[in-house]
Amino acid sequence: MKDTTGHKVVCPHDCPDTCVMTVSVEGDRAVALGGDPEHRFTRGFLCAKVNRYLERVYSPDRILHPLKRIGRKGEGRFERITWDEAIGTVAARFREVITAHGPQAILPYSYAGNMGLLSYASMDRRFFHALGASLLARTICASAGGAGLKATVGKSIGFDPEAIVHARLIVAWGANVVSSNVHLWPFIEEARRRGATLVTVDPYRSRTAEKSDRHLALLPGTDAALALGVMHVVFREGREDREYLDKHTVGWEALRKRAREWTPARTAETTGLTVEEVEWFARAYATTRPSAIRINYGLNRHAGGGMAVRTEAGWRCGRSPACPRSPVPGGMSGGACCSPPRGRSPPTTRLSSGPTSSHPAPGPST
Ligand code: SF4
Repeated sequence: MKDTTGHKVVCPHDCPDTCVMTVSVEGDRAVALGGDPEHRFTRGFLCAKVNRYLERVYSPDRILHPLKRIGRKGEGRFERITWDEAIGTVAARFREVITAHGPQAILPYSYAGNMGLLSYASMDRRFFHALGASLLARTICASAGGAGLKATVGKSIGFDPEAIVHARLIVAWGANVVSSNVHLWPFIEEARRRGATLVTVDPYRSRTAEKSDRHLALLPGTDAALALGVMHVVFREGREDREYLDKHTVGWEALRKRAREWTPARTAETTGLTVEEVEWFARAYATTRPSAIRINYGLNRHAGGGMAVRTEAGWRCGRSPACPRSPVPGGMSGGACCSPPRGRSPPTTRLSSGPTSSHPAPGPST
């Protein structure tokens, strides 16, 4: 009988949860997999996808050798070839392309299905760089939102997810936490047991939206309009944190001017929400602290998505009451955080109104 050894490893997927997995190994084969109960965020469970990881790794259908198509495309007929033949075939085609069109005619594309140190952005980058191939950002996730956050707060930073238990108002904005950030959900449930309200902003009635206290089902691509409409109400009612704005931001007067254009009626017409929903959301956010916003890809994967995140970040940083000085985590977000580390000044936040020209539909310009 083989000895069984236990190991702790980090899930390699491109996922915000970053779980610690427990793996039992017999000989050279993993025989059991689970979530580490000692890891505070993993809490002893993995997601549905990775729970069955061993079935995938040891599946008889897994491709372990190079295969060459021997029929027409789509016929599904392949034969096994050697690694030498596979590498020789690819190299010969690369040479043909380079001779005919130059190395930049080759465009490498891969992303982050597996984030192992060697498999992700490592040797392939060196190889294609040496070849002189075209460059590609190779991201399909959050570049637009990252640019929006950097334009506003200087960095793409977020709050400690465990701190969300302190929030009294939680906003899941374009984020289906229940399905795709499953380890954050117990912390949100804990916050709700302590009295927090959960609001989901999402055109789609996701599982998270179904479980929320309120679902704001805006039209796709109108997030920036909602953020401006919220700011309109906050400024109109004098609920902004003027001291914070004066001390730690630039451009808030221009932003207020821009937000004046986004009355609740105009915001409602653009977003498909009701005036009551816009007003309620603005007041709930302005008067409840600490609050937390978990933004996710839904917000930035459309035309104007970067500006939507930029606008949302500006709104968050200019709100009242004063999140930066809260003794508990204050205005928090999955993309940025208004609360600086204790004892440090918050960074200067750019709250300019953004370009005045329209960006392409469907989102409003900011
Ligand atoms: S939730 Fe799933 S994919 Fe994400 S880190 Fe945990 S096990 Fe991996």
